[in-house]
Amino acid sequence: MSSTVSFSEQVDQNFDRAAALTEHPPGLLAVIKACNSVYHFTFPLERKDPKTGKVLAVETIHAWRAEHSHHKLPTKGGIRYSSDVNEDEVVALAALMTYKCAVVDVPFGGAKGGIRIDSRAYSVDELERITRRYAFELIKKNFIGPGIDVPAPDFGTGAREMAWIVDTYLAMGDNKLEGPGCVTGKPIPLGGIDGRTEATGRGLLYAVREACDIEEDMKPLGLGRGLSGKRVVVQGMGNVGSHVAKFLEEAGAVIIGLTEYDGAIYNPKGFNVAELLAQWDELGKAGKKSIRNLKVPRGTERMEDGLLGLEIPCDILVPAALENQITKKNAGKIKTKIILEGANGPMTADASQALGKKGILIIPDHFANAGGVVVSYFEWLKNLSHVRFGRMEKRFDEQAFGRIIGAVEVASGKSFTTIERDSLTHGASERDLVNSGLEDTMVTAYRRLRETRAVFRSKGADLRIAAFIDAINKIALCYEDLGIFP
Ligand code: NAD
Repeated sequence: MSSTVSFSEQVDQNFDRAAALTEHPPGLLAVIKACNSVYHFTFPLERKDPKTGKVLAVETIHAWRAEHSHHKLPTKGGIRYSSDVNEDEVVALAALMTYKCAVVDVPFGGAKGGIRIDSRAYSVDELERITRRYAFELIKKNFIGPGIDVPAPDFGTGAREMAWIVDTYLAMGDNKLEGPGCVTGKPIPLGGIDGRTEATGRGLLYAVREACDIEEDMKPLGLGRGLSGKRVVVQGMGNVGSHVAKFLEEAGAVIIGLTEYDGAIYNPKGFNVAELLAQWDELGKAGKKSIRNLKVPRGTERMEDGLLGLEIPCDILVPAALENQITKKNAGKIKTKIILEGANGPMTADASQALGKKGILIIPDHFANAGGVVVSYFEWLKNLSHVRFGRMEKRFDEQAFGRIIGAVEVASGKSFTTIERDSLTHGASERDLVNSGLEDTMVTAYRRLRETRAVFRSKGADLRIAAFIDAINKIALCYEDLGIFP
């Protein structure tokens, strides 16, 4: 859905609203807002007949990488494969990454990359050639590296593409020792981290769980505390959408609607998400991934237009597909109490303001979907330290806990069951530590955003503006400490 105000202008509008509530000099604010560097490049792709190997056509592939802010290095942000990718989008997403990293205290500047292709229209072999060439071009221009710029998965990419990138980097780049840290979201055997794939969805769960736990914020929405029984609609059944749907269901919420680019399904009694996702995977393997091909329970309403799925009445709406899905055009038809932004920029700035004025609680993208970059940060740290989290202390902790439990048994004269003993003496695995670090980050950041919102509420700040204010203040400190802006 297009909007007359470009995506990067939308981001800048929110920035300006927040900046106006700070006391930083205009010159400093301009430095923070500006995108530091953008690299647009093209390369040819031979399209061959898979049977004969004969070249059928040569396409020009357009690709970008934007590094929005070098106030901290490396810069960090995903790589998107989509036929809508353009320079404005990449710059807007890179800016959001800068603010997101600051909000959740990840010491990186923001970046984003994109290749203008519909990945469904290319064979695996072609995708590999495109990805490796993209990585090669970034290496040539010094636009990638563990201390320079570290990509990750985004829309249309995943662990497979990251594996091709790290392999190309290790073959071509000169930093072999820290090379695996040139990209995150890799498969675990190539230096990935347990828990990264689902991290964005899990972070969204922690964000909304924290929000729903605060009675003072739920009351005006006419909702009770907690996630149990809350009716949820999710847009986008990709990495972010499918994981958040699964985690919300496990937390007791009811997923009543799912929407995709080619349709939506709605059942007021709720879906069995685990079962639907298993079907979704099978459809993917058979090359038939479409919401229209899902077998759904009786009583399910099907909608031809996926965008209409956003209008299903619910308690929590999770747009987790693309930007500009909720605009002034459809904002008036949204019937939810909470919007949890899984995607980057799913709402235009004017739609967000209009829905905020209606009292809808909006948990903004550059906080809510930060789980991916938080766990990417952990993966990067793991790559630099060359050791799996928990490796050194797991057994030591288990033995120490075992001795404490033994002493308690002797003192009390009672024995624990094997199950109790195992749960009390369990030492933390990599996944336990990753999830714990992620949960702490999301909960701490949410509480801080609420405090900032409280300070600026009388001046119209919502959580989105509070997140921008927090980010601006933190980035400003870096420049002020350099003495550039007195
Ligand atoms: P993905 O490619 O795994 O999945 C996207 C899903 O959205 C697909 O199922 C696709 O069919 C569907 N979709 C495409 N167009 C749609 C439309 N118009 N309406 C409804 N559904 C549509 O992508 P992802 O990684 O899940 O990313 C989704 C969003 O989340 C993007 O905005 C991305 O920038 C953001 N995000 C992703 C991560 C991450 O770790 N992957 C982290 C933070 C933010």
